[in-house]
Amino acid sequence: MEAKIREERAGVFRCTSAPQILVGDLLRASGSEAAQPLLEQCRKQFHSEAMQPAAPETRLPEGPFVLVGLVKDHPALKQLEADLKSRLPKDGLGQEGYLLEVAPERILIAAEKPAGAYYGVLKLLERAGDAAASWDIPAVRIADWPTMRWRGMHVLVNSRDDLPAVEQLLTRFLPQYRLNRLILEINYNFQFRSHPEISSGPNALTVEDCRRLSALAKQNNVHLIPMLNCLGHQSWAETTGAFLRAHPEFDETPDLPANNPGIYCRSWCPSHPDVNKVVFDLFDELIDAFDADAFHVGMDEVFILGQCPRCKGKANAELFARAVNDYHSHLAGKRKVQMLMWGDRLLDDAQMHYGEWESSRNDTAPALHLIPKDIVICDWHYEPLADFPSVKYFQEQGFAVWPSGWNSEENAQRLAGCALKNTSDRMLGYLATTWVGVRSVAAGLAGDAQALTGNKNVSGVVAAIRKGARLAWEGAPQP
Ligand SMILES: [Zn+2]
Repeated sequence: MEAKIREERAGVFRCTSAPQILVGDLLRASGSEAAQPLLEQCRKQFHSEAMQPAAPETRLPEGPFVLVGLVKDHPALKQLEADLKSRLPKDGLGQEGYLLEVAPERILIAAEKPAGAYYGVLKLLERAGDAAASWDIPAVRIADWPTMRWRGMHVLVNSRDDLPAVEQLLTRFLPQYRLNRLILEINYNFQFRSHPEISSGPNALTVEDCRRLSALAKQNNVHLIPMLNCLGHQSWAETTGAFLRAHPEFDETPDLPANNPGIYCRSWCPSHPDVNKVVFDLFDELIDAFDADAFHVGMDEVFILGQCPRCKGKANAELFARAVNDYHSHLAGKRKVQMLMWGDRLLDDAQMHYGEWESSRNDTAPALHLIPKDIVICDWHYEPLADFPSVKYFQEQGFAVWPSGWNSEENAQRLAGCALKNTSDRMLGYLATTWVGVRSVAAGLAGDAQALTGNKNVSGVVAAIRKGARLAWEGAPQP
């Protein structure tokens, strides 16, 4: 990532044994693990196993050291901020911005918030390189902060076999691309205790798996957002998902043959008096397992609505809105977590002209006016269009919008570019969807040739992640 402000300066910070690591008290007291990557890298490069960070004294040491802290942690950090203040955003460095000064005798990293200190450490490590037992870092002053607040990726997690790939994303690739949100589409691939009959099988994720991912996410400034696809998408081709297999009484089209002929995906019935009791149990277990502060309910491409005797005669928009409102009342109302959903059913194709997938031709769009405005809309569009009118439209309608691209660099560039052009307080950032399986995503990002050529989408997905992440952090390229 190119930093927003970078001034090369005279001299070089040079050391051939581990520099002293100083961590400010306020940063430490926040519980942040921002300095952790620095300690790990020093242990690895300088083979100094016993390395422990110390708190900085007012008078800083003579020998080579790195001081990481919040601005208020030390006069030297305050001075660095004062020196650069006139060039920072008017609201300051914000949640994730940082200052980095490399001088011949010392390195300072200052931030207003712990996440900023973490990104400052990552930038330093990039410049330090990975040569054994030596740092030779040209002196520089850097001030940097992200342009977009939410920089994310969406991946499918099908079983415990996917866990190493998810861990690799959390510890390596999300930090590398400065991404701070990871949506894990779990669906029924979790060992639900309240409804074991709905779990996809013995290789589904356990609570302990989710806790471990959650801890890794916190260390790396990533918010994990569990996802369970609600209402639609309850079958795929000839296979019906675990929810309707276990509870056929909730099927919107129970008379349809088991191999799903002639349909895209089954839906559950949003009007069944008992369905939400079960759905909410699943929500609760996933929220608790991930200690999540946000939850994605899916709800894209719902084509089957209003078929069963309970739903027949009601407008599709009313049925769809009822489901959204029910989930919102549990998630935002009872559980106090942020609700996210895909946006396609809320867009009228007659107005948006995206076609029947990315917008609605089945009369669900008026639901937009019947649902709460504090739902985050993931506005997915996968073509390299010249404009994406929904990005502006959702904001005008009072919703926070998270534009979501997919499998080509050009798509990511145009969609993130549209987000940058239509920025208000309701513009959240850029979300890279993947749809190729998380193991392929991780292998593709690692440059694995087989992964990059095996599935036709992997190389495009990887290029789109890189492009989208870059635009989300850097903003539009400097003229
Ligand atoms: Zn129904």
